[in-house]
Amino acid sequence: MERKVRVRFAPSPTGPLHIGGVRTALYNYLFAKKNGGDFLLRIEDTDQTRYVPGAEEYILESLKWCGLTFDEGVGIGGSFEPYRQSERCKLGIYKKYVDQLLESGHAYYAFDTPEELEAMRERQKIAGSSSQQYDSVTRNTMKNSLTLSAEEVQQKIESGNSYVVRVKIPKNIEIKFKDIIRGWVVVDSSNLDDKVLYKSDEMPTYHMANVVDDYLMKISHVIRGEEWLPSCPLHVLLYQFLGWENVMPEFAHLPLILKPDGNGKLSKRDGDRLGFPVFPIEWKSSEGELFSGYREGGYFPEAVINMLALLGWNPGTEQEMFSLPELIHSFSLEKVGKSGSKFDPEKTKWFNENYLRAKSDVELATLLKPILALNGISSLSDTYLISVCRLMKERATFLKDILEKGTYFFDAPKTYDAETVKKKWKDDSAKIVSDLVLLFSASDFTAANLETTFKKYVEDNGIGFGVAMIAIRLSITGQGGGPQLFEIMEIIGKEESIERLKYAIQNINKESIV
Ligand code: GLU
Repeated sequence: MERKVRVRFAPSPTGPLHIGGVRTALYNYLFAKKNGGDFLLRIEDTDQTRYVPGAEEYILESLKWCGLTFDEGVGIGGSFEPYRQSERCKLGIYKKYVDQLLESGHAYYAFDTPEELEAMRERQKIAGSSSQQYDSVTRNTMKNSLTLSAEEVQQKIESGNSYVVRVKIPKNIEIKFKDIIRGWVVVDSSNLDDKVLYKSDEMPTYHMANVVDDYLMKISHVIRGEEWLPSCPLHVLLYQFLGWENVMPEFAHLPLILKPDGNGKLSKRDGDRLGFPVFPIEWKSSEGELFSGYREGGYFPEAVINMLALLGWNPGTEQEMFSLPELIHSFSLEKVGKSGSKFDPEKTKWFNENYLRAKSDVELATLLKPILALNGISSLSDTYLISVCRLMKERATFLKDILEKGTYFFDAPKTYDAETVKKKWKDDSAKIVSDLVLLFSASDFTAANLETTFKKYVEDNGIGFGVAMIAIRLSITGQGGGPQLFEIMEIIGKEESIERLKYAIQNINKESIV
């Protein structure tokens, strides 16, 4: 029988979610939706020493902003919380399986102090051994339930000695598993160490909790970053030791996201160093360090998702713009490449620009309002804003560009672009503007009428079209370029336009330009 597809995104709340983590969540989500499966969120927070306050909230908010909703969690009805391993631990979920491993001889107690562990590494180094790990070679020289008597072990545990439970990795066996992206992976068990599975603070480590939960949650596919590939042989062994081989999930380890120049992994500091965000939303560390986010940078979540989807996955066609439903339709793990993908911040802007242009003027106006309000602009009508968006959207990459490049829609110019004045404001420019003030005042203020009036005036008076046009544009907008001038005038209206033209006649002059 085909297994129901169930995948999970399993972040540890050790800091903000890097854009690579968002991609992992996205690929899990797409794979689940494509296959009619479930997408779970599991917070892996058993390592209390690495817990960062606020990180879990950050993860939840980031996923919400990206529109990656999970299907299952703790609680009933629509309002469930993600699974949290720290809470599951209190229910004794993991201890049971640790005991099973201890009983079957696949795990053992170890009581070594940090100093004893260090001494072992030193000894190994001096002996010229290439590996200084706790493993089938060194375990016999250490303080553990394989070298101590059963009474000693019992006594140590009862007297409250701190201990760990380690996995007993068999010597020289071949561990083999198939990765959907990488094909067969074969590892010699001699390269693995006896990793800690459980600690006397009653907390399982990542490996133990991760495998037990994947089993209990009936996870069919583990899709995660390449950095977890080295842990996978241990996970495969744990499935075998616990007798769960027949329900072991399939694995897919995603390629790294590389710096834009391809030199190494994209790190959390690269973004602000190179001028682009590497986090979905802004993050302020407890030391007060601020990391910029895509949300605050004015990116649409659709653009970020589209960019991330193509960072490692190749649809096999020329198509670049994908909505979430289109991604779900086209996605497959088989089309995810093995090699790292270079991060391309310019491409993200390109996506944003395209998503912005694809939005209706009405939607853009709605989205623009809060940005305007932040800038103290709140008195403009919807109709006005819709028209502004219609004219400006072809010139904007971000919503804020509409405000920044189209300042003249929100305020009359007080200064005029110096370069344009110097080159294009001629001796007769003021006269042209005054003549047109009279003609425009008498005309019906639609773009078409204004254009006819303007054209007739320049033709009748043998004036250069360009000279006259730039004089009016400078007067109305303060700038040398922009969208269709008569459309701008129609939008800002007769009274305001005439006032600006009159003001310009008095205030634009070459002498004032330095
Ligand atoms: N907790 C691990 C992380 O932080 C999860 C790795 C996995 O998906 O197995 O990425």
